[in-house]
Amino acid sequence: MAEDHVDVLIVGAGPAGLMLATWLAKCGVKARIVDKRGTKIFNGQADGLQCRTLEILDSFGIGHRAWRESNHMLEICLWNPDSNGVIHRSSRLPDTIPGISRFQQVVLHQGRIERFFLDAINEFSSGGVAVERGVLPTSLEIDRTCVEDPEAYPITVNLRHLSEEDATPKQSSTMSNGISAQDGLFRSNLMADDTADMLKTSELNQKANTTETIKAKYMVGADGAHSWVRKEIGLKLKGESTDYIWGVLDIVPITDFPDIRSRCAVHSANSGSIMVIPRENKLVRLYIQLTTTSKIQGQDSRTDRSWITPKVILESAQRILSPYKLDYRKLDWWTAYQIGQRVGSSFGVHDRVFLAGDAVHTHSPKAGQGMNVSMQDAYNLGWKLSSVIKGHSNRSILKTYEFERKAIAHALIEFDHKFSRLFSGRPAKDIMDEEGISMDEFRDAFQKGNLFASGIAVDYGRSLIVTKPVAENGASEATPATTSTPVTGIQDLAPGLKVGQRIPSVKVLNQSDARPWHLQELLPSNGTWRLLVVPGDVSQPGQKSRLEKLCGQLSNPESFLRRFTPNTARYDSVIEVITIHGAPRQSVDVFDFPEVLRPFHDVDGWDYEKIFVDDQSYHEGHGEFYKTFNIRRDEGCLVILRPDQYISYVGKLDDYESADRFFSEFMLPQNNLTLPNV
Ligand code: FAD
Repeated sequence: MAEDHVDVLIVGAGPAGLMLATWLAKCGVKARIVDKRGTKIFNGQADGLQCRTLEILDSFGIGHRAWRESNHMLEICLWNPDSNGVIHRSSRLPDTIPGISRFQQVVLHQGRIERFFLDAINEFSSGGVAVERGVLPTSLEIDRTCVEDPEAYPITVNLRHLSEEDATPKQSSTMSNGISAQDGLFRSNLMADDTADMLKTSELNQKANTTETIKAKYMVGADGAHSWVRKEIGLKLKGESTDYIWGVLDIVPITDFPDIRSRCAVHSANSGSIMVIPRENKLVRLYIQLTTTSKIQGQDSRTDRSWITPKVILESAQRILSPYKLDYRKLDWWTAYQIGQRVGSSFGVHDRVFLAGDAVHTHSPKAGQGMNVSMQDAYNLGWKLSSVIKGHSNRSILKTYEFERKAIAHALIEFDHKFSRLFSGRPAKDIMDEEGISMDEFRDAFQKGNLFASGIAVDYGRSLIVTKPVAENGASEATPATTSTPVTGIQDLAPGLKVGQRIPSVKVLNQSDARPWHLQELLPSNGTWRLLVVPGDVSQPGQKSRLEKLCGQLSNPESFLRRFTPNTARYDSVIEVITIHGAPRQSVDVFDFPEVLRPFHDVDGWDYEKIFVDDQSYHEGHGEFYKTFNIRRDEGCLVILRPDQYISYVGKLDDYESADRFFSEFMLPQNNLTLPNV
């Protein structure tokens, strides 16, 4: 039997698996990604992209594709019954809270997003990595004796290659209004998991099948809600036993409902609620909660889905939107799917096998979180795995994956729970109607939920790589925190740059050529840590001398910049230094800054892409970096950013020692005291 060695084996090529494969390809890690299906999805399924997800896609260079092709959702309209029980528009709100990101929430179907990832993986790996479709793992063994050895391959997986027929999902072509449409039921969790069936069928097809053994250092189960990997490692999802059943229609509507091109939440007096999502290509998605499994007594809803058809979903929508008329010319896709609110007891085992996405949490689709949170799990994990595999960090940082993402999954379930009640309940008739849902409460929850739903509110707790003060998140024993002398910075030096959160973006100018850049554009996802040197007004002698003191230490042959960067690697490949100063741009020149801030490279010459200024641009206004983040120009600060743009540390400009101690907690010396060209 063929045998291969890989650093990471990814099972499942949905949004989570593809995000991970993109990271690993970008960082040059040897990975394979397999999916039991023969094709990627072409339409339907998840659609909403939060602004944080767009920031992340942009950091891989694919954000513009999603931004251009998607439908931008700028407004939410809330509709509810008036005193006569007739629906009317009661509020209009911005869909994304103004100012929280340079992107706003958009909608684009999952198949396109998967396409962007596939192209990126191909580009980053120079064609070396591609999704292997129609491939199924059949056994998993973990050699526990060597899980702590960073060089070991403790995971053995057997893979079976299916025939094309086995790997092709069966489509039950649906006729409605005389029009055929693709349905998403083959991927719906209303269907029983078909992994076992596929295995059986493939076993029969001896000719087509081949098997192969993979030895892997790490493995990630991104294989969806039924996760085979989760079962193999003996983990379970825990949570509510009642499942909600949702009907979803993607149609080109014919309607006199005036807000059909805005996102709407419509509560009817007695016919239920509907979420309207305007999409690309004139499509509109309608989400309707049809029922809960607890209401389908005596039936196994997973197998009997015959009662759910596009007609049933459409008729529900028509009742809710009455007296407005609703029909369609084109039905593009439809599905019904069943959702419970559950989170994995653990996100992996031995810090060797991890779960991401639906494999480790499920919840309703109302807030468009499924695909986003799944991708963001993988976004959190990808750089950590790369860093350990490349020998830059020790294995301790892997513990922060579960610590950080489990908290998000629980927050998501809590949000979903609250929102489900408000969305699905009957509107209150008056203030005495305690069983009904108050529409004021719904609007408030919607507004508050918007920050959470944007993905921007993610705030990781204190750990080895997030230097919050102990008291702030009540860090417990379970926190994968620092050793005996944890590094703690001084948040007050930059109150607008919150440790634990992603760095917000404003425009800064390149000192050398005056070009404005969004700060986040300077932080592409390539596995690099960033040291943001924020020296304030360097035309003032005090700030200048503090900067020079810091740079003296940074350019020392034993500084953390040099210790943790391999001899053969570029000076900015492990920790990149970016300066954003606050003196008037024209009062200083790039060569006024110490050389370590603008290193010389044998091939490229001086690096002009490292020093930026907070000043007025010629054409795009003033980013107001110092003002926005409340940083004093006569004080400045040092900021450490993780490779995923989250803020690890804010401290004094000239406190080199704390930064050194921070990196020394988890980074591995590369035996390199003579970095070239710095
Ligand atoms: P998935 O997208 O489920 O991907 C898992 C992948 O793993 C699949 O490609 C599958 O073929 C593969 N796989 C599974 N088992 C194996 C195995 N044993 N071996 C190899 N490969 C395997 N979210 C929204 O926000 N809005 C929506 O409208 C919406 N609609 C949905 C409709 C349906 C029918 C479903 C199932 C989900 C929907 N979701 C929606 C949820 C959203 O699609 C998911 O949250 C998101 O896709 C999760 O991404 P993932 O990568 O974790 O898992």
